Amino acid sequence: MNHLAPYRIAFVGLKPGKHDFQMEVDKLFFESFPHAETDEIFGNLSVTLDKLGSRIYCVADFEGFAKLPCDRCLEPVNVKLTFSERLIVQLGELTDTDEEIWTLGPECHELDISQPVFEWLHLNLPSRRLHEEQDECDPEVMDFLVDGSTRTSTDLHGSSGDSGKDEDSDIDPRWNALKDLK
Ligand SMILES: [Zn+2]
Repeated sequence: MNHLAPYRIAFVGLKPGKHDFQMEVDKLFFESFPHAETDEIFGNLSVTLDKLGSRIYCVADFEGFAKLPCDRCLEPVNVKLTFSERLIVQLGELTDTDEEIWTLGPECHELDISQPVFEWLHLNLPSRRLHEEQDECDPEVMDFLVDGSTRTSTDLHGSSGDSGKDEDSDIDPRWNALKDLK
């Protein structure tokens, strides 16, 4: 749980205005989130809190990558992951973090952004995950895929060739019959 300590920002003592925070995302971050699609996201998160009266505007910029199975060969591929997300926090009477604008009650001294960061990391995962060049894909898997497709096309070709011959032999007598009519 200590891995999430940097994501709990003590805002009470913060002066009005902007404050910058840096956090590192790696596998340890995901230990507290057992239902992650992947725990292999690495990068840096820059968080700016802008404290304005009873509101805190939080902007989170992430730059890093996710290690995910390639759509083509299933071997791990590093895909770039960047996003800029924001969270608005209202200081009020009752704590409510289910709404789009969070409300933090007087008992709160810290703003815990670990849950939204976890969600942002997953929401922003690219849907297309491919080695940039086909040569970078696992050659064994690619050989298997190529062999599979070659075998199929050979079978198709073979059978169409056979039926072609059958047609030829069917047609030939008719042609011969036509020739005979002339
Ligand atoms: Zn690949």
